[in-house]
Amino acid sequence: MDYLPIFVDLRDRLVVVIGGGIVGERKIEHLLKARARIRVVSPELTPELAAHRDAGRLDHLPLLFSPEQLDGAQLVVAATDEEAVNEAVSQAARARGIWVNVVDDAKRSVFIFPAIVDRSPLIIAIGTAGSSPTLARRVRTQIESLLPERLGELASYASRWRGPVKAVLPALPERLRFWDHFFNGPVAAQLLTGNAAGADVSMQQGLDAARAASGVQQGEVYLIGAGPGDPDLLTIRAQQLLQQADVVLYDRLVSEVILGRARRDAEKINVGKVPGQHDVPQARINELLLHHAQRGLRVARLKGGDPFVFGRGGEELGVLRAAGIPTVVVPGITAGLGAAASSGIPLTHRGVSQTVTFVTATGKQGSQLNWAGLAYPNQTVVFYMSAAQIDFIVERLQAHGLADTHPAALVERATWPDQRVLTTTLGALAALARAAELKSPTLLIVGEVTALAVLQSTVNEGEA
Ligand code: SAH
Repeated sequence: MDYLPIFVDLRDRLVVVIGGGIVGERKIEHLLKARARIRVVSPELTPELAAHRDAGRLDHLPLLFSPEQLDGAQLVVAATDEEAVNEAVSQAARARGIWVNVVDDAKRSVFIFPAIVDRSPLIIAIGTAGSSPTLARRVRTQIESLLPERLGELASYASRWRGPVKAVLPALPERLRFWDHFFNGPVAAQLLTGNAAGADVSMQQGLDAARAASGVQQGEVYLIGAGPGDPDLLTIRAQQLLQQADVVLYDRLVSEVILGRARRDAEKINVGKVPGQHDVPQARINELLLHHAQRGLRVARLKGGDPFVFGRGGEELGVLRAAGIPTVVVPGITAGLGAAASSGIPLTHRGVSQTVTFVTATGKQGSQLNWAGLAYPNQTVVFYMSAAQIDFIVERLQAHGLADTHPAALVERATWPDQRVLTTTLGALAALARAAELKSPTLLIVGEVTALAVLQSTVNEGEA
């Protein structure tokens, strides 16, 4: 370990910054947050720094560097773009026994600034001993994405409730168990999703329950959209709640990698519908959700795409609500949006398409569709669950007057590494779909915009 990470209380302590450019400004923003007294030595200041000076938040010496400017400082930062000046600052500070940082120059520095994840009062500092600031920033981004944005609020909330909890649970082991449950349970989940009122109610209920020593735990369900396939398209909230769940019920379309983001010890139940095999009926899925939640567990229901787009999320939410189970819905990127992005097909496009419709032509619903409405030009129609209905779709659209030359595309396994994009026309679509031996899942997109597909891997079988 070449450097010891420490947290320094800089309130009202003097920090001298040499250099009033953009580099100095960045450091000064942090120093201001830490409420340090700041003296900037620089003939010129950036507009932001000048604004801080005018507002009395820092002192400005509009001079070139000279060593006596460091007198009285606890820390010194050299942020000029002149190596000779930075060297002089470093030497002068060391001679006075003041800790110095030369920005991006570990050799001339006594201390270095870490990359920071700030969820005050929780702060995480990341350093690479000056070897790669870029790596430190990347790690910071990764940690940022793991930590809920409202984590600081959670810490402050817990601190407000410390007294009341201690009054109800004077014995330490009981209190520890209570706080464990606090951070893993409904109160934290509600706070992290911005539901402060719900959190207060759950907190009070939790305390009442603890007082009654009944220990009855309330389960809950997260209806999570897992996106179209690429695990990087998972939302941050989905990852957070997935990390909390005791039980995960997942669909066929959810990838292994995404499932791997759940807690290792969580029970994982496949309720996926494999084409050609027996489905787990929706009623059975509802039963499983209720069963586990009523046992007091946190249940993640992971669905492909978005739970509320051809995902039966509404039915599950209804069942859970009726049973009084707290439920959080987390949106996911629906396949239509994922396929559009990964195939370079804009769903709307000025002068080409002003409307986009998500439909399914499967089962009985197919015959009830407003085919006349779907057969108009200058719109985009995205067909879900319709790979087996392509002959029928083509026939309906033609019957309602859509031209054989009208562009269409099939996007198979959108956003997966083996995605295929086939662009064609209405007239050639059925034959192409048969020849391509489409794998599940596939989307059919009909509209002029499909001619704009720009992806290099696009297999353009045109009028084949
Ligand atoms: N709730 C999901 C849709 C479930 S219905 C969502 O919002 O995306 C299942 C249908 O979605 C599939 O038959 C297919 O048409 C489409 N689909 C899902 N993932 C897909 C993908 N990665 N590529 C292409 N189509 C996909």
